[in-house]
Amino acid sequence: MSRQIIIVGGGAGGMGAAGGIKAVDPDAEVTVFTGFDDVAYSPCGIPYVHGKEIDSFERLFLASKQAYVDAGIDIHYNADVTGVDIPGKTVTVADVGDVSWDTLVLATGFNYADPGVPGGDLEGLYYVKNIREAIEWDKVLDAVRAAVVVEASPLGVEMVTALAHRGIETHLVDPSPWPMSEIADPDIMAPVEESWRELGVTTHFNTTLEAFVGEGHVRAVRTSDGEIDADLAVICTHKEPNTALGVAAGLKTGSTGGFIVDERMATSAPGVYAAGDCTEIPHGLTGVPLQGLTGSHAYAQGKTAGINAAGGSRAYSAVYVPWGTAAGKWIIGGASFGETTATALGIPHVVGTAQGISRARYYPGVKPVKVKLLAEPDSLRLLGAQMVGGEGIKERADFLAVAVKFGLTLYDLARMENVYSPAIGALNEPIVVAAQNGVDASRKS
Ligand SMILES: Cc1cc2nc3c(=O)[nH]c(=O)nc-3n(C[C@H](O)[C@H](O)[C@H](O)COP(=O)(O)OP(=O)(O)OC[C@H]3O[C@@H](n4cnc5c(N)ncnc54)[C@H](O)[C@@H]3O)c2cc1C
Repeated sequence: MSRQIIIVGGGAGGMGAAGGIKAVDPDAEVTVFTGFDDVAYSPCGIPYVHGKEIDSFERLFLASKQAYVDAGIDIHYNADVTGVDIPGKTVTVADVGDVSWDTLVLATGFNYADPGVPGGDLEGLYYVKNIREAIEWDKVLDAVRAAVVVEASPLGVEMVTALAHRGIETHLVDPSPWPMSEIADPDIMAPVEESWRELGVTTHFNTTLEAFVGEGHVRAVRTSDGEIDADLAVICTHKEPNTALGVAAGLKTGSTGGFIVDERMATSAPGVYAAGDCTEIPHGLTGVPLQGLTGSHAYAQGKTAGINAAGGSRAYSAVYVPWGTAAGKWIIGGASFGETTATALGIPHVVGTAQGISRARYYPGVKPVKVKLLAEPDSLRLLGAQMVGGEGIKERADFLAVAVKFGLTLYDLARMENVYSPAIGALNEPIVVAAQNGVDASRKS
């Protein structure tokens, strides 16, 4: 008899799992329950449609509903799972009842943290996630005069840029001293802040949110820095793991609140796997559990969970977290962790920095690229990297994450070969120069 596998969640984690299952066991009966109207769209593209860089939401859909039917994946849309019974091997689905499984994959994703201030029930508060809602909000944006983005999380950074591109008077409110302070260093974010000012954005750092103000609809946002008139508030608070279903069923969670999983993405209960933003995964160097990583992490975790749920074998290892995004007129990115995190965790480090260029200096379109490398003081083993520039940040972030993972040192990077071709790369690769500067700095210290 074919294996019955239920997946709760139709995001990157859930759909990665569905693909992983079918790759191992094409005869498995795969049923996906999602609370949304769609799967297979890229939420990551939503800020760029709002900012008009992408001309239509249609472009964000990756596959048709029929494609999943053809692949033998039975997706139930607008189907909320309200309970999980692990000993009985069933899930309870609203308006349907109990459905049995042999193996279960939970990929229930994240929720934005509740801002926890008065006025949270007013209209005009936008939580960016579901594409159908984003399509409706996009129409609203045409009439918005002023907006406040609450918190400079990665999504907040993208939404600030998008709303400014859209011509909306945009304010950013964040309790930290600089944007994305949990991830990025202040010197990396400084050019971004400057480019926001050029776009007319007003930033309010070291500023606490106090209330959303209005009668029925938000008309202002009250902060420790005063009241900001706004007809829209975009809530970009940090991502919290959505684990309520699994917790109620007895699954173990860790210090971040995400499900604890082993390298097979198996949870604390037999036959139950989890993937994506509802889980926590250790950082490869520090072992510190991380939660709320990226869509690409969620997808890879889902694939791993699906392969193992279907009887195959794949391991998901600790993460070195390459990251990056467009921010203002720049691209920021990095790998592992930066100077701020290293200092906060008490990790000794030396820094090598270089301000380079992305192409030959005479080639049209050449852009600045700043690279900052962190290494252990004695061995000069690479610990992390942060960058800001005009292009080529993503590729460097991916490479540097691998370099951290495999223990490369600043000596290795200072002697690495690099492509030089006027249109695509400069003679002096900024990573090489930053590594050499780090070696020099370590000799002086
Ligand atoms: C606006 C936006 C921009 C993003 N930009 C990027 C980016 O640039 N790069 C990147 O890598 N990632 C990006 N992401 C991805 C994101 O940050 C997450 O990492 C990713 O969405 C996690 O996928 P997931 O499958 O774990 O969870 P989610 O995408 O949150 O999916 C959760 C799924 O679970 C379902 N669900 C939850 N509870 C239930 C229930 N009880 N019953 C039924 N269904 C349920 C939901 O309906 C949904 O289908 C972005 C996301 C958003 C929203």
